[in-house]
Amino acid sequence: MAAETPFSHRTRARALASMAAEPVDVLVIGGGITGAGIARDAALRGLRTALVDKGDFAGATSSHSSRLIHGGLRYLEQYDFHLVREASRERRLLLDLAPHLVRPLAFLFPVYRGARVPAWRLRAGMWLYDLLAAFRNVRLHRWLGRRAALKAEPGLRERGLVGAAVYYDAQTDDARLVLAAIRGAAQAGALVANYTEVTSLVRPDGRVRGAMVRDALTGEARTVRALIVVNATGPWVDALRRLDDPQAPPLLRLTKGAHVAVARARIGNTHAVTLTSPIDGRVMFVLPWGDLSYVGTTDTDDVASPDDVRASGSDVVYLLRSANAFFPQARLAPHDVICSWAGLRPLLAPGREVAASAVSREHRIVESASGLITIAGGKLTTFRVMGRDMVDRVARRLHELDGRPIPRRPPTDRVPLPGGETADLDVLVEAARAREVPEPTARHLVQAYGSEAAAVLNLVERDRALGRWRCGSGTCSCAGSTSSPRPKTRPSPRRAPSRTIWVSCSTGMRPAAPRRSPTTRSRWRSRGRT
Ligand SMILES: Cc1cc2nc3c(=O)[nH]c(=O)nc-3n(C[C@H](O)[C@H](O)[C@H](O)COP(=O)(O)OP(=O)(O)OC[C@H]3O[C@@H](n4cnc5c(N)ncnc54)[C@H](O)[C@@H]3O)c2cc1C
Repeated sequence: MAAETPFSHRTRARALASMAAEPVDVLVIGGGITGAGIARDAALRGLRTALVDKGDFAGATSSHSSRLIHGGLRYLEQYDFHLVREASRERRLLLDLAPHLVRPLAFLFPVYRGARVPAWRLRAGMWLYDLLAAFRNVRLHRWLGRRAALKAEPGLRERGLVGAAVYYDAQTDDARLVLAAIRGAAQAGALVANYTEVTSLVRPDGRVRGAMVRDALTGEARTVRALIVVNATGPWVDALRRLDDPQAPPLLRLTKGAHVAVARARIGNTHAVTLTSPIDGRVMFVLPWGDLSYVGTTDTDDVASPDDVRASGSDVVYLLRSANAFFPQARLAPHDVICSWAGLRPLLAPGREVAASAVSREHRIVESASGLITIAGGKLTTFRVMGRDMVDRVARRLHELDGRPIPRRPPTDRVPLPGGETADLDVLVEAARAREVPEPTARHLVQAYGSEAAAVLNLVERDRALGRWRCGSGTCSCAGSTSSPRPKTRPSPRRAPSRTIWVSCSTGMRPAAPRRSPTTRSRWRSRGRT
């Protein structure tokens, strides 16, 4: 029997019991990337920390993103230089802190005659992008003439092509990034429990002093007492604030972003490609993901409940038409869509009328009269900074409450995320191969688990049953290869190596109950249902 880790379905029950038995310093509500970053920072400062989520960790927005760790080239158009500088720094740090999960990605941004963004402006923007990254991006951008651009990306429309910029950002596996941060929190002592919903706040004397939680697996209700309660519920932030104050004015402007994935061979892109949609001039992407390419995103105001967000037919048409305009030979049609996903951006409502795509991605911390501390806005990329800023506030409030010293900021800019304790992934792949693991599987294991890949192999060696495919439905989004999760993409027996290792799904502490996680349900929707 493997040694028990501080993060498993076995320890979930203990964590719940512990947070109900003894008050915590801080209760973080929401197990997306925002709550994960806060819990990790708080636990690393030595605070008694609890984190709960009503569903699966990363089950909501944080597994429905464009999966980019990026400076945000398009924010230059909004003169949001502070955000670009901050996000560029975070990109550089995350490439080091989680090299298995955050990988450099080359983007090609083609320019056409008469385009909304002319060549001179794009060239100036590229210099500024490199400058705001202190010239410490993966590489500096470079400019390609028309011929070189077509050579680099042969499927691009030739008519009107002037040239292209090549620049760099990074791509991640968003759900795994959240899990890594939550595991980091748990390793630092945080008590974490998914499928645990906050149903009301405890306010014995008018101050928020904890929450009532309901264990979705057993139906049991418990009280978690906390000196500070943090609301990190993303698109549910306003709903949670109304548990504290039914009259609380909305903080958020929710905008929906949708993606579709198609077989990469249908588009034939070799790079990530940045486009300005011919429909409305918005910046969007065609991004590689194994043998898939995904196209996104839309950015529209949405009034749907965060519990039921999906890509609509018009989202799909918009994305396919935009991609077809740049890759005319692809002729993508809705039946080419393998899956789609959509999420709501929990953006700060601006004080004035602006287009959905122009709403700032900065984050803000707001405290209610009764002490509930809410964080809104932000990005996957900047989660570490958001966590730090929130815990700075929490630490000050704790100091005011009981006079304890304010703990020093932990070095989250230097402490790797679990699995990130390596700079050289190829060495890890070679080590796995030396154990007779075939190359694609070795690479997959290293990209998913980093320096922990060897430990995964140890488990499989001890118990062969663990090496079997665990997602019977074939709709699992996280196991197997980095390509399509559909059964047809699993290696055929002909290609199967002598020892096939299919690693079980690891999107958190899944309940034993046969319930499909929101991640699975909404993310990989079958053909024709988009
Ligand atoms: C389409 C799209 C593309 C994006 N692309 C990028 C990108 O490429 N790069 C980037 O940096 N950012 C991107 N973003 C932004 C980024 O994804 C979000 O800012 C981020 O994921 C928000 O995380 P969160 O933790 O605040 O919210 P969520 O991930 O939604 O987490 C909130 C959690 O709170 C839980 N919760 C709610 N109510 C309760 C309750 N009562 N009790 C317990 N738990 C509760 C929910 O179950 C949920 O898991 C994108 C966003 C979208 C929508």
